[in-house]
Amino acid sequence: MAQHIARSVRDALLRGTWVIDLDGVVWLAGVPIPGSGEAVNRLKDAGIGVLFATNNAEPTREELLGRLVHAGIRVEVDDLVSSAQAAAAMLAPGSTALAYAGPGVPQALAERAVDIVREAPADAVVIGWARQFDFDLLSDAMAAVRGGARLIGTNEDPTHPTPDRLLPGTGALLAAVATASERVPEVAGKPHRAMMELIKARATDISVVVGDRPTTDGVLAKQLDVPYALVLSGVTSTDAVIGGSSPDLQHGNLAELVTAVLDG
Ligand SMILES: [Mg+2]
Repeated sequence: MAQHIARSVRDALLRGTWVIDLDGVVWLAGVPIPGSGEAVNRLKDAGIGVLFATNNAEPTREELLGRLVHAGIRVEVDDLVSSAQAAAAMLAPGSTALAYAGPGVPQALAERAVDIVREAPADAVVIGWARQFDFDLLSDAMAAVRGGARLIGTNEDPTHPTPDRLLPGTGALLAAVATASERVPEVAGKPHRAMMELIKARATDISVVVGDRPTTDGVLAKQLDVPYALVLSGVTSTDAVIGGSSPDLQHGNLAELVTAVLDG
């Protein structure tokens, strides 16, 4: 459902930096959503800044940049922040961590000079999205947390959108470890503080947050005190806008949003 955009809102969105989510906005499991790449380039051509902010900690930075290029987007390394980086920022250089996550997390931890260990004890257990998750992993993670390690989730998204169906998200994996550990986890990604601080460090002139999940992207927008633009190309469908912050703008996908803003 396209929506008329008030003049004052539109004027604000024609300046500054857009914080744009990736999964469900630019792509689904890496497969570009039609028109999204062109839409991002139209923003850049109009002089609008773009910062991609993803809760998906599984890919490496190079993989994420490669997917953006594959979507036809001109991008530089500083145009991207992930919950893997946010999780790493919560740990002091020189500390130790057990990482149960895809390759993006060990990369971010290594860049933070966090020592990745294979067995407890460790200062922290970091849970991120990965397709490998079994009883032994759960047992080891639980034991490390019960032994004193901090329990850090890269994010707590309950699901992960793909072109075919929803898959379990990091939040589902984190909940298993938290339950077994009887511990409330710390969470790094949107809308939590570590990710918000990374975003604010990269962009001081944020004008909107665009994302498919109101409970993460919408709440982040509210905390940044900027409008939230919901797109319905990911986990949220037209007839099921559930939880989180109600959107200021709502469009079918990124291309429709960008057209509405740029072409008024
Ligand atoms: Mg998303």
